[in-house]
Amino acid sequence: MHRIVKKYATFLEKSSNKFREATKKHGVQCKSGCYECCSVGFFDITLLDAIHLRSALKEVPPDTRKRVIAKANEQLDILEKKKAFSRKDPLLKTLPAIDSISRRSAKMSCPALDDNGACLIYNQRPHICRIFGPTIRGPRRAVRLEGCGYFSKDIPEADYPIFDHYNEEKDLQRAMFKKAGRKRLRAVDTIIPAALTLDLKKWL
Ligand code: SF4
Repeated sequence: MHRIVKKYATFLEKSSNKFREATKKHGVQCKSGCYECCSVGFFDITLLDAIHLRSALKEVPPDTRKRVIAKANEQLDILEKKKAFSRKDPLLKTLPAIDSISRRSAKMSCPALDDNGACLIYNQRPHICRIFGPTIRGPRRAVRLEGCGYFSKDIPEADYPIFDHYNEEKDLQRAMFKKAGRKRLRAVDTIIPAALTLDLKKWL
């Protein structure tokens, strides 16, 4: 498993670099100080992303790590009280489950967002955090990844081949599930507070 998580870290770096190059080329960098996408509730991240994030937390300075984990636990307590999420069943298995947690956490910010709008786990952040912003479009303007709406220009798929990245990510996920004794990849996700606080390996 360690080897797969390490490969995933390399994949994240590669995907971030490619995306950064594309944003520079097309002049579509996020506005400095904008953190809206980190402050409107929880989106889903893959189980591999979650396991990588938890493992990469050891690179975060201890005080920051403690603070982020404490905030994540506070948020999970609130969500459990509202019966919107359960630590005993932290996987999101369907689109309605993803929609539901996203709606019910809409007033919460990411536990890794500090008071100045900076990401406290920037180098360890999940994949979607690295590639979200401008819309990515394929041929005939087909939407490949819907952006936040603040950009008037897009990134063409030719400059950020998102499906190639997704395929690479899926190969690593497949390897992770295989290692855990599964025959095929499971379409299960979770949320950042769960990734920061729970050992999700046992949910493979
Ligand atoms: S991990 Fe960082 S970039 Fe991602 S939502 Fe949280 S604060 Fe934002």
